[in-house]
Amino acid sequence: MTKKEIETAEQIKKAVSVIKALRPAYKDLLAFYEKLFLAQETSKKHIYLQPIKIPEDLLSVKRKEKFPLITRADFTVDIKASEVLLKKICRLAGEANEVLAHAGVKLMDCLDRGTVDAPTLLSKTLSEDNVYFDETAKSLEIDKKVLLFMAHGSIRPSLSLCAEQLATYTDKDILWGKGYCPVCGSPPAISILRGEGERFLFCSFCDHEWHSQRIYCPFCENKDQKTLHYFFSKEEEEYRVDVCDQCRKYIKTIDARNIKRPVYPFIEQVTTLHLDMLAQNQGLQSGHPL
Ligand SMILES: [Zn+2]
Ligand SMILES: [Zn+2]
Repeated sequence: MTKKEIETAEQIKKAVSVIKALRPAYKDLLAFYEKLFLAQETSKKHIYLQPIKIPEDLLSVKRKEKFPLITRADFTVDIKASEVLLKKICRLAGEANEVLAHAGVKLMDCLDRGTVDAPTLLSKTLSEDNVYFDETAKSLEIDKKVLLFMAHGSIRPSLSLCAEQLATYTDKDILWGKGYCPVCGSPPAISILRGEGERFLFCSFCDHEWHSQRIYCPFCENKDQKTLHYFFSKEEEEYRVDVCDQCRKYIKTIDARNIKRPVYPFIEQVTTLHLDMLAQNQGLQSGHPL
């Protein structure tokens, strides 16, 4: 597993407080996300998962063919801990903006009355059962994306721990060379530049981080310099948006070489939503579901 800049709750708090001062427009959103990230960190302490074992022969095929180690459905999740976290997320959402508050209150009410079964909701998140999510969101009268966000947020500590364990199977001496996560095959949410300009990608599903080629579109594998470019704002040189003309997708990049403060990629992702808007106004599409 590659090094994460910030792992502890204290460090998350520090990263949030620095960025709140830098970008006051995100104050309210950050207040919610800080509590969410801290709740997810706390949840990790109560999770125990049996390690996933990958037999040597299967592993060598996966390495040769560049297949991810597992599929999303193969993750092990601590359902009890995830259920506790789901209810906590409902309460936190209840104190947040109107859309989240509405969803949080509704979902909590249905969980309490038993009209939504938490273990089913959580396992359907892994199996990506779209029909279940369409129907449940409709019956709750809440946005399906918000429901998915809360459900994924609840299993995220398990996914992240599972990915940490599985990362021991990845070959760190060989560049993965693919745009999808070597652990679970999902697209990256954000990229980061460090050191001498090495580029790392962060999985949108399991938080795994992997080393990537610098000039490369992770969504269509384009490596042609002429059709890959980026834009940035002069006021925020630590961020840029990498754009691929071939597939018209974009990914946000944090240039950690220009940042003195602590960097927690998932906080940076939230506080750069204005860049998503800029990219989408140019007709570009995010490479992962927002
Ligand atoms: Zn992943
Ligand atoms: Zn592309």
